[in-house]
Amino acid sequence: MIIKTNKDEFLDYLHDAANIRGDSEQLYIPETGTELSQLIRKLYADKTAFTISAKRTGLVGSAVPQGSVLISTEKLNRIKKIDIAEKTISVEAGVLVADIQTALFAEGFFYAPDPTEENSSIGGNIATNASGAKSFKYGATRNHVLELEIILPDGEELHLKRGMCVAEGYKLRLTTSSGQNRNLILPEYPLPYVKNTAGYYVKKNMDAIDLFIGSEGTLGVITAAKLKIIPIAYHNFSAVLFFPKEEDGLEFIKKAVEKTAVSRENNDPRGINPRAIEYFDSNALKYASGDYPNIPSGLGCAVWIEQELSAEDEDILLSEWYSLFLKFKVDVDKIWVATDRTEEKKIAAFRHSLPARVNEYIAKNNFRKIGTDVAVETKDFRKFYFKIKEMTRQTGLDFVTYGHFGDSHIHLNMLPKNEREFEVARANYDAICRLAIKYNGTVSAEHGIGKTKRHLLLGMFGLPNLKKMALLKMSFDPHLLLNPGNIIPPEIFESLS
Ligand SMILES: Cc1cc2nc3c(=O)[nH]c(=O)nc-3n(C[C@H](O)[C@H](O)[C@H](O)COP(=O)(O)OP(=O)(O)OC[C@H]3O[C@@H](n4cnc5c(N)ncnc54)[C@H](O)[C@@H]3O)c2cc1C
Repeated sequence: MIIKTNKDEFLDYLHDAANIRGDSEQLYIPETGTELSQLIRKLYADKTAFTISAKRTGLVGSAVPQGSVLISTEKLNRIKKIDIAEKTISVEAGVLVADIQTALFAEGFFYAPDPTEENSSIGGNIATNASGAKSFKYGATRNHVLELEIILPDGEELHLKRGMCVAEGYKLRLTTSSGQNRNLILPEYPLPYVKNTAGYYVKKNMDAIDLFIGSEGTLGVITAAKLKIIPIAYHNFSAVLFFPKEEDGLEFIKKAVEKTAVSRENNDPRGINPRAIEYFDSNALKYASGDYPNIPSGLGCAVWIEQELSAEDEDILLSEWYSLFLKFKVDVDKIWVATDRTEEKKIAAFRHSLPARVNEYIAKNNFRKIGTDVAVETKDFRKFYFKIKEMTRQTGLDFVTYGHFGDSHIHLNMLPKNEREFEVARANYDAICRLAIKYNGTVSAEHGIGKTKRHLLLGMFGLPNLKKMALLKMSFDPHLLLNPGNIIPPEIFESLS
């Protein structure tokens, strides 16, 4: 195990991609699961708090320590097995999503819920229930996790297989590898009917594995996982469409989402059924044009779609899409189309360049990222989107908007130029999140709550439900040693003692 006590050697571990900063005196880098488990047992015995750090591409401070020791999963980076017959991949928690995709591509497969940031680890993805562009069709990480190996805060180990440990109503019994039983009464509270990763995921008769997915590393440390993999289609149709008017782009998305629902309901392979529907507003396109001068000028917005095609259905599907393009006034001469994996990766890189550029701006100016991760129900989307755009316009701040609009999920990023603007941006950000809550949406569809959105979780779930979440956390971690400060505001724990 590598141990670092000279902070100058691990300064990079003290902030995340949103430039949220923290502090720690000690970094441990275990090289095997056994080393990690022994370390956690020792820390638990010493009542020493510890924070799990993976690739720190997180955006809510959840991997950033506030004085606790740090444990990095970076050396747990082995791909253990690709099982083609079973359509699974088994990996250690520190493996990068990019490495998973490269290994799978060689076998003709892919891992579906890859977030825009492929330099993130699979452990981080599972801990945050990350999603990506393809989640429009395939769902978030949760849908793809079959097995997890977990170390609980006291060092006991759990191996969970989907379907093998299911709650009876709200009663859940976990049996650790050493044979200890943990009997839990799961809390009851409603979750929003939108893409969501805010708060602990609990449901009647739930699978135990789902409790750990999206728990932001607060209930246990993931050391390994078995994931579903999907065969690469005969062809992927990937295209960026440019719209002279924003209204047409939004109408196009609405129609594509409606058509997708029909195709899915009828299980129709010849119907429109994209795996991705991503959106970029005119500000975002102007912002990106520094890196991409080939973006046409004077646009209302752009939409990136991806659809898998089979040899039999390719022609009919392409003509379906083409008629939709014409109907919504897409400038067909200017479409960016990917015809192979290299081109597909270029479009994905374009999508990645936007948040990357925003993060770079924020870090350079020493602010903290102020970007929304809100989602609302599809029926409310248009109204909500125009409202938050107008609210932001009225602040006078520069901002860019992009996101997973197929899932009614918006990343509106404000770009403050000075401290005063930063405070205005923060206030507007909170107001947007409060509005999302009012619409029965979520304050976090994919990034998590971490340390920066805890106050918003209170608004979303209310004090009694937050107390239930705190009790759930304490049933795993009574001394609050693992990932302290994540998800639940500290005063909630204080109010319980
Ligand atoms: C440019 C950019 C684009 C992004 N796009 C997306 C996107 O499209 N979708 C999306 O969902 N997110 C996105 N993100 C956010 C980020 O990539 C995800 O949250 C990702 O899942 C974090 O992974 P990580 O390895 O960097 O984890 P970290 O940031 O290091 O950690 C995140 C959380 O997971 C916990 N954790 C990490 N590993 C483990 C483990 N083994 N066991 C238990 N807990 C663990 C940490 O303690 C922390 O709470 C983006 C970020 C950037 C910078």
